[in-house]
Amino acid sequence: MKVTQVEFVISAVSPKQYPQGSLPELALAGRSNVGKSSFINKMANRKNLARTSSKPGKTQTLNYYLINKALYFVDLPGYGYAKVSKAEKAKWGRMMEEYFQTRQQLKAVIHVVDIRHKPTKDDQEMFSYLKHYEIPVIVVATKTDKIPRGKWQKHAKEIRVILGMEKEDTLILFSAETGQGKEEAWTAIWKKIRD
Ligand code: GDP
Repeated sequence: MKVTQVEFVISAVSPKQYPQGSLPELALAGRSNVGKSSFINKMANRKNLARTSSKPGKTQTLNYYLINKALYFVDLPGYGYAKVSKAEKAKWGRMMEEYFQTRQQLKAVIHVVDIRHKPTKDDQEMFSYLKHYEIPVIVVATKTDKIPRGKWQKHAKEIRVILGMEKEDTLILFSAETGQGKEEAWTAIWKKIRD
């Protein structure tokens, strides 16, 4: 897709602040620092639209980005950051639960994992949660530029097995550095919006 217009809309801390209207939303889920913001930036052809964070786990907000006045990317707060208190984790859980369970506009979750590593327990829990509630999900294995091409398929297979993905579940190899997987990701997104 040719992105001609991008706009940061709001950092929402509560549902009252989520944008009104019925535009489709694609939410980015993943560990802190996995590359969610970089994914949005690459997809939108922007360098610094979505703040690539230096302080993982600190932003408990839902960041809305409007693309071509047609859809929103929603950057969700990351998980799996060790230095987060129990209270903060609980708050995160409530925020996510509320968003996933009530947001009609949500068309799919883009679940970002790191191609270099085996998915963590947190990754597994996130994926199982989405499947359990039948929320459509696109898994994006990012940072492919960080491992040799010859290892991509082996790592992709491991991710599929460890997350418990089924054959029909989409896994896209991606790199915010090289742009690999960008068109494939747009195609998958439009398919979820149409479904
Ligand atoms: P977020 O916390 O999930 O939003 O992660 P960020 O997008 O802020 O990325 C965390 C770090 O990983 C930053 O230093 C990014 O530059 C880097 N990064 C993200 N995606 C890629 C990628 O595809 N390739 C490489 N080499 N680095 C990446």
